[in-house]
Amino acid sequence: MPAYTAANQRPTIREALQSRTFDVIVIGGGITGAGIALDAASRGLSVALLEKNDFASGTSSKSTKLIHGGLRYLKQLEFGLVREVGQERAIVHRLAPHLVLGEKMLIPVVKGGSLGPLSTSLGLWVYDLLAGVKGDDRRVMLNPKRTLEKEPMLSSTDLLGSGYYAEYRTDDSRLTIELIKTAMQHGAMVLNYAAVEGLIYNEHKQVKGVVCQDEMGPDRWTVQGKIVVNAAGPWVDEIRKQDRSLQGKKLFLSKGVHIVVPQAKLPIQQAAYFDVGDGRMVFAIPRQDITYIGTTDTAYHGDPNRIPIEKEDVAYLLAATNRFFPKAQLAIEDVESGWAGVRPLIYEEGKSASEMSRRDEIFTALSGLISIAGGKLTGYRKMAQRVVNRVAKTLGNKTACQTAKISLAGGPFLNAADVNLYIQQIMHKLQELNQSATEAPYLVHNYGRQADVILQDLRQEEDFPLLQAEVRFTIAHELATHPLDFLNRRSGRLYFRLPATRPAIPLALDIFQEAFSWSPEQRQRFAHEVSEAIDLITTFPSSTPLPAAR
Ligand SMILES: Cc1cc2nc3c(=O)[nH]c(=O)nc-3n(C[C@H](O)[C@H](O)[C@H](O)COP(=O)(O)OP(=O)(O)OC[C@H]3O[C@@H](n4cnc5c(N)ncnc54)[C@H](O)[C@@H]3O)c2cc1C
Repeated sequence: MPAYTAANQRPTIREALQSRTFDVIVIGGGITGAGIALDAASRGLSVALLEKNDFASGTSSKSTKLIHGGLRYLKQLEFGLVREVGQERAIVHRLAPHLVLGEKMLIPVVKGGSLGPLSTSLGLWVYDLLAGVKGDDRRVMLNPKRTLEKEPMLSSTDLLGSGYYAEYRTDDSRLTIELIKTAMQHGAMVLNYAAVEGLIYNEHKQVKGVVCQDEMGPDRWTVQGKIVVNAAGPWVDEIRKQDRSLQGKKLFLSKGVHIVVPQAKLPIQQAAYFDVGDGRMVFAIPRQDITYIGTTDTAYHGDPNRIPIEKEDVAYLLAATNRFFPKAQLAIEDVESGWAGVRPLIYEEGKSASEMSRRDEIFTALSGLISIAGGKLTGYRKMAQRVVNRVAKTLGNKTACQTAKISLAGGPFLNAADVNLYIQQIMHKLQELNQSATEAPYLVHNYGRQADVILQDLRQEEDFPLLQAEVRFTIAHELATHPLDFLNRRSGRLYFRLPATRPAIPLALDIFQEAFSWSPEQRQRFAHEVSEAIDLITTFPSSTPLPAAR
């Protein structure tokens, strides 16, 4: 990362963005745009990336956070998709083993369920085969006794056994941010809170730039580029509309909700993927001191900038969980937080939200605008490769894709054992600094080797010194500009550690206020933004408004 200080980062980047014509401008700083920026920059292309909000603030912070092949797509006979993303899992793990962790998954098989022991065994065998899974990671089938040893919270009634197989877990927004930082290390110019509000064309009606609105101030400016790539996720069609090229295939937004309950309320020992009974499957994944459960899959026609978690979504997930883990008897009051996102899928006539393909597709308009939609977090590298192959061909760049060999920022680590060794070192350092050693896994899985940089800046503060050092790190090194950028996208604290984080929020606001010289009114505005975000993930309105009281 360039050694910017908090105060001068934005003006410096803005100036650089206006100072030249870039080979490629990327609209959108989710996983798709971030992957494209790194691929293009590492092939020697000059890259500008513009994000209207914070990096990963769209769908890329609201997924199930799995790097997975998508077992359920086998049912839809999507063998190509399962093979590609299945094989990508091991590559993404190798590029960031601190951030993409092996996670064994248990699929319970019950009498009367939609999965039988034979179909589960066969499905998992094909899954492993397509993904090239080897050795101990290959699936095994367990009898009821061994299933209950793995997960005592499961109900023994009607239990026929389970399938036990390998996946990976990540933090989607941290993965996106480390990709962005790696792209910057390769020379990409990136800026958050920079919304593309118009496209610029040459005399041949070819798109050659964008008009940008700085969301942190009143200014508008332009960025010139030879090729413009639209990686705006759920907003892809808005950009295509601006380009007057929204013909043919269009997006379909499908909403997915996750809820978070304290580990103590659902003390599962391990991740599970279970049958809901309506042909769908739901994940329950333990993480730090919580378990998260998801997801739903329903058509969404509302505002993708503000997606509510509705009471019905919560009830659906709780009912499914209580059926498989009846000892938990979870109630809506147990739900600590959650998140709701929309999948930017490509519309297919006559299919329901959960039946629609997760494949990605690239559209090149007559104006030259390249749009990419659909796809999975897991497949970001291959999606980027396909887009950049097109860009490189047009620009006459012959360099092959490099990204399978580029360790992401936060590394490098040789493998998971190397990560564990580093966790031990951080534990010792935390003890020497009179801090709780239990924070070490969180620090390393979030920030990788940058945990050392955070600890070097630990000060003699009375309250939350570690959190305060993290805030300073994200402002200085990760373009955190709003308090929510830290609380949500860079630390996951609002989702995973809400009760423990609430009392530290005023301190985080103090640090941002000092770094960006905010007036009391500005501080008030950002404090309000944090409260609103917390309300959005902790209050669950009914989807059908109740009739007004007479
Ligand atoms: C509930 C759910 C669960 C999922 N689970 C998984 C999973 O476990 N594993 C997996 O592999 N995949 C999963 N996915 C899919 C995955 O999350 C998405 O495919 C992926 O995050 C999409 O990334 P994206 O970059 O295309 O879109 P986004 O992350 O939405 O990024 C697009 C960005 O463009 C920006 N933008 C929009 N308009 C403009 C503009 N005018 N100017 C500048 N910027 C703009 C937005 O602010 C946004 O940040 C899941 C999806 C959902 C919804």
